[in-house]
Amino acid sequence: MSSDFSICNSNNPEQLEEAFGKLGLFLNRPEPCIICTACQYALHPSAEAVSKHLWSVHETPPAARKGLNRAVKSLRFPNPSTLPVRHDGSTLHPHLAVLNGAVCKICDFRTTSLELMSRHMSKKHRRKNDRKTWVSDEVDLDTNT
Ligand SMILES: [Zn+2]
Ligand SMILES: [Zn+2]
Repeated sequence: MSSDFSICNSNNPEQLEEAFGKLGLFLNRPEPCIICTACQYALHPSAEAVSKHLWSVHETPPAARKGLNRAVKSLRFPNPSTLPVRHDGSTLHPHLAVLNGAVCKICDFRTTSLELMSRHMSKKHRRKNDRKTWVSDEVDLDTNT
């Protein structure tokens, strides 16, 4: 198996995407991040982290990773934790795991914690701190079951 990175032009996004794709990595847009499609999460976008992930988790041989470090560095992606949350109503991300959560229908606040939602409802909307009064009426529970 030879690396596509060695022959691909890093100024050509399609070639880059294809080369990453062969390693099971997805270059996400518009939020810039590298997603491992097998693990369904965004990798830390440093060359070392991506290389190490491929090697330690997926045993991708060094030959296939040739040129990868340079390609990752050329992307200059920010740390995924600094990225904005995905817009609501956006289609389900094909490569990310879906988390269960709750959405406030009044102000669109969202969280994966009912504890936090409970605090949100009482503080922001003066709803009683009683789940029954706001779940379903004012909060969408996204259970994805
Ligand atoms: Zn992975
Ligand atoms: Zn709210």
